[in-house]
Formats: sequence, C-alpha cells, structure tokens
Amino acid sequence: MCATTAEEVELESSVRAFIDKPHQMLIGGQWVPAESGQTFDVFNPATDEVIAHAQSAAQPDVDKAVKAARQAFDDGPWTRISPAERGRIVWKIGELIMDHQEELAQLEALDNGKPISIARAADVPLAAELFQYMAGWATKLNGEQIGLTVPYAPGSEWHAYTRREPVGVCGQIIPWNFPLLMAAWKLGPALACGNTVVMKVAEETPLSGLKLAELMQEAGVPDGAVNILTGFGEEAGAPIAGHPDVDKIAFTGSTEVGRMIVDAARGNLKKVSLELGGKSPNIVLDDADMDKAIPGAANAIFFNHGQCCAAGSRLFVHENVYDQVVEGIADYARNIKLGPGLDPATQMGPLVSRTQLERVTGYLEAGKKEGARAAVGGERAGGNGYFVEPTVLVDVADDMSVSQEEIFGPVVTATKFRDMDDELIRRANETPYGLASGVWTQDISKAHKLASRIRAGTVWVNCYNIFDAALPFGGYKQSGWGREMGEQVLDNYTETKAVAVSL
Ligand code: ADP
Repeated sequence: MCATTAEEVELESSVRAFIDKPHQMLIGGQWVPAESGQTFDVFNPATDEVIAHAQSAAQPDVDKAVKAARQAFDDGPWTRISPAERGRIVWKIGELIMDHQEELAQLEALDNGKPISIARAADVPLAAELFQYMAGWATKLNGEQIGLTVPYAPGSEWHAYTRREPVGVCGQIIPWNFPLLMAAWKLGPALACGNTVVMKVAEETPLSGLKLAELMQEAGVPDGAVNILTGFGEEAGAPIAGHPDVDKIAFTGSTEVGRMIVDAARGNLKKVSLELGGKSPNIVLDDADMDKAIPGAANAIFFNHGQCCAAGSRLFVHENVYDQVVEGIADYARNIKLGPGLDPATQMGPLVSRTQLERVTGYLEAGKKEGARAAVGGERAGGNGYFVEPTVLVDVADDMSVSQEEIFGPVVTATKFRDMDDELIRRANETPYGLASGVWTQDISKAHKLASRIRAGTVWVNCYNIFDAALPFGGYKQSGWGREMGEQVLDNYTETKAVAVSL
C-alpha cells in the first residue's frame, strides 16, 4: 500500500476555511461553544493527525438544545407553517447539498477517510436525494375517514377520522460511517413530518454535520427547529436519550449502545427507533453469474471498508463454486488500491479511528487463534493511518467470534454449503442480527424462496448495498426497531390521532 499524499485532491479554499475556523454548535439558531468550554480533537484517519477541534457537549448544552427545540415545537414557527412551505424548505436543503457537493465530499473524505470518489458518487447525492424524497411527504401526511363499527345510540351519526401529527422534540444520535447520509436519513423525515430536532453527530466525524447545519439555516429552517451538537456518547448522547422533554429518540449505532438507549428512554417512555448492528449473510448459489457475483460479493463486504451495518460479512458459497468464488474475491481484494480518502485513485481508505483499527485487528488475531486462515489480507497495512488489508477468512466455523460478532471492518468469512436446504437457512439466520442479506442466483424461484426465508429487513438479489430514499431499511431481531426511509419511516416521526365527532 502506498499512502502517499502526492495525488490527493487540493482542498477547495472554502473547505480549508471551514476546517480551520473554530467549530461551534447550533443551538436555538445561534452558533455557541460548549458551556464547559471543552473541545475535543478531530483526526485525519489517513495520517493520525489532528485537523480540527469540536465542542464537547454535555448535559447543560443538551438542556439548552432541548429547550430551544421544545420552544420551536410549541410556539412555532416550524410547526405553524404550511406543509407546502415545510416541504419547500426540506427540498431546498437537498438543493444546497448539491450546490456544495464537492465541499461536502472533501470534508467527508478527510474526516471519515472514505474515498472521495465514493463520497462524490454516493454519500452526497444520496443525502440530497433523501431530503428531496422526504420533502414530498410533507404535503401527503393524510389521515383517513373511518366508519365506526357500531352506531352507539340508535339513529346516531358519526364522523370519525385520523390525523397524522408530528411526535414533538426528536433526539437523534448518529454514527460515523456515513456521517452526512446518516444525518440526512434522520433529519429529512423528522423535518418533513413537522418535528423539531436535537441531533448529536458522531465524535469521530463531526465536520459534515456542522456544514449541513449551516446549509439548513440557509435553506430557511427556523431557529430551534434543528439543533446540532458535537460530543461524546456518554456525555452528550446519553443526556439526549434520557431527557424528560424529548418525545422520541432515534439512534443508529452498535447494538450494545442501542440497549443503553432503550434503558435511558424508559424514564418518560419516549418513542424509540433503532438501527443497529448486523452480521449479514451473503449466499452464492452455484448457478450464479460469477462475473457479477464475485465482484458483487467483494463489494458487499469491502464497500466503505466494511464499516457498514449491512455489510455482507458472512459469505456462504455453494461447494461447487467455493474455490472459484474465494479465489475471485481474494484477487479482487489484492487489486484494491488502499490510500487516503482524498486521493481520487483510492478505492479503500483507512478505518475511521484508532479504536476501530484496534477492534478490527483484534478480531483478525482472535480469528487466527481460533483456527481461521486469511486467504488474502489479514494484517494492518502500512503508514501511520488506520489502514487494514481487505481480508477473506477461510477455514472458519460458524461459532467462531469472527463468524458471530460484528467486526465492522473489511473482513469476510467464507464458508461452504452443499444444498439450498433448511440447514443453509438455519445457518444464515443463526445470529442475533437480522439487518440485511444477499442472494446470488440465476434461478428466480430459488431467489424468491430464499428471500422469503431469510430473517432480515433487506434481501438483495444479484446486487448488494442498494439503498434508496424510497426503500425502507431496518432490522429484524437485534438489528433494530422500526424502519428508516421509504413511506415506512413516517411511522417513526408521526403520531396518529383518532377524532370521533358525534353529529
Ligand atoms: P460505534 O461502535 O460504531 O462507534 P456507537 O454505538 O458506539 O457506535 O456510537 C454511535 C453513536 O452513539 C455515536 O454518536 C456515539 O457518540 C453515540 N453513543 C455512544 N455511547 C452512547 C450512550 N451511552 N448514549 C447515547 N449515545 C451514545
């Protein structure tokens, strides 16, 4: 690997200026420092160097932000403007994201480490698309007219209907793997439905969220309707999850922290939606089109360096094609160009943080100790950055830690199966997770049979990592509660009110 900086794109002057300025938090329409005056370092994961400082929010900042969001919800103007105007503002956020697409892509590549080519092609346009898709729902939050089942009194007449109303103040806590996109997934529907928000962005990657906050102000989001905090999980995230004046909490992150969110939410029984971990099975049948299945299965795990909750991290390959598929993916891995995110030729950047580097290399060590062998990769890659080689583990058993636990890195386990039978289904479903899955076959009957039996929120057939604003995404089992995106996300951000009128 050659982590040279020679070919890196030159940062736009506006990006340089944004990074260099003192970063504050958006509370009640004002840019303010943390009450404690404390900041934390923001690192470039490709070099281990500090590139910025962000404010370290804690309980007093959360209290202030929740108060601002409460006031914006109770007194308006956000909750008083017309649905059409609300929709226009949410749409405008998407427009401004595209107006600033290169800046946002550069920030994302620098802060998260992901290849700028991916940030340009995926993170930024998908975030814009999400806001614009959700903008349309602002004017379509209709209830229903309902006929009562009994007349109550003979001859009485009734007019009954439902209304869809915003939930109120929404706390939103997001991770670092797709910083801008995860912010969009949460803010888009919350705002389209007329809620107000206190969001905490991830401590590893605060920059694009702060830039987005500026764009939301420019789009016309009124003061207090969106408040953006930077800070750590326990200090800033936990007070949001536990706050008695927050009506709903939406969280994306690890299953372990998801459980803490649920505990914290019990005080005022706030609504909870969770998008948590995964250990997704990716199944290659022997009739698959190998020209698609091999690069597809490689991308399923190596996209975003495996730092995807939906990553296809457990590969099940029919024994007839096992050697071909494993060797094909290993070849693919050998040809992946590792480098800093800002190099346009980079196909895989560093992991996001030192912690993540230690976690992934720890799993590689554990796997080897348990008897797994790396068909390719298996080591940390050179330089000071947090690079790990794309890795295919073979000789793995289903009960090894590398097969059971979410590694969140570019590491896939490859195992064989003989028949598309109950045993395969059992193995595919045998984790506490149920987020996503993949099936590669040219037999449509087998594809749909598998799609119905896999216990996961998404099944990708002859493709992987297809995300769309209109497609619901979320988990079965311990992968989460509720769905993001699509029409289904509106359930997370609206309450249904029944109105019965005696005429
Ligand atoms: P990861 O392990 O992928 O970093 P985490 O679940 O630890 O994921 O973090 C995801 C988000 O949750 C981050 O914004 C983080 O700050 C936040 N977080 C971590 N711990 C807590 C907590 N106890 N309460 C609320 N938020 C938390």
